[in-house]
Amino acid sequence: MVDIKSMTLEELTAWFKEQGEPAFRAKQVFHWLYRGVNSFEEMSDLSKALRQKLSETCFITHPVVARKQQSALDGTIKYLWELGDGNCIETVFMRYKHGNTVCISSQVGCRMGCAFCASTIAGKVRNLTPAEMVDQVLFTQLDSGEPISNIVLMGIGEPLDNFDTVMQFLRLVNHPEGLNIGMRHISLSTCGLVEKIDKLAQYGLQLTLSVSLHAPDDETRSKIMPVNRSVGVKTLMDTCRRYFQTTGRRISYEYAMIDGVNDADWQADLLADLLKGMPGHVNLIPLNEVEESPLKPSRRVAAFQKRLEQRGVTVTVRRKLGGDIDASCGQLRRKAMKEHSPQ
Ligand code: SF4
Repeated sequence: MVDIKSMTLEELTAWFKEQGEPAFRAKQVFHWLYRGVNSFEEMSDLSKALRQKLSETCFITHPVVARKQQSALDGTIKYLWELGDGNCIETVFMRYKHGNTVCISSQVGCRMGCAFCASTIAGKVRNLTPAEMVDQVLFTQLDSGEPISNIVLMGIGEPLDNFDTVMQFLRLVNHPEGLNIGMRHISLSTCGLVEKIDKLAQYGLQLTLSVSLHAPDDETRSKIMPVNRSVGVKTLMDTCRRYFQTTGRRISYEYAMIDGVNDADWQADLLADLLKGMPGHVNLIPLNEVEESPLKPSRRVAAFQKRLEQRGVTVTVRRKLGGDIDASCGQLRRKAMKEHSPQ
């Protein structure tokens, strides 16, 4: 069966041609898919015979809302979607001044093992498909009734560990006949897969690359991010420098502030040294506590910020959204998994 929503309009047109159907039919179907229809039967301007043929050869993905939590504080909505195979993923809808933003997942689970993250506790189950990534944007928009103008790939999973799918997803959401979200409105977060960062640079996309740095020294970073054990901070920063030189796009460095782990003055100084001569900015993230983790939020966020700024680094502190609804990555899925486990 063909996963029809994972195809671009151009691929769909070529596929329709192979089936002996005119090109304009592909466009009609593409438009229906982005209206969120769940079956070919609903595509009322297609002939009955074509609808029948499509039902026999293709399928349309449509996640179901397994849980939905809305913050009473700021309107943030967290969705737990159940996919066609019963797996669950999370999507977070957030309201910012610069527009509504959706944070989406790229995998079911994650194999990267970051110590502060709930998404990785049970490992990676599988990659998402392009359609399953598009669906998170599409159905969040339809369910919330609000237009989405920005996407961040910062939910469950390491996007560059599902590289080809993520590239196809970007083509799909960027398409003017589909969701038409510009590359400059998309951020992609990575824990630092250097070969994939180099590969991404070759595409020359206008998106924002966010590198989850979280520590400026190898000893600390290797403790909280196993990915650092094979590729250290220096190699990562050299790769970031190359990325900037190739694409001209500034990188955003994510830094979750963890009490007594990465929030010392010397670490702020080292971080400032790492970023010398390279345009970019640091985004300090107040840590969300994960029940299974001993890591606690830092109380030194303001002091750390000040020290970086004194050394010429551009710094922002992420506004905490959805603090009352398990809004950080992987927490809601983890909660649902625990409730359904037999122990
Ligand atoms: S922070 Fe990102 S890369 Fe690290 S374990 Fe969590 S989902 Fe995976």
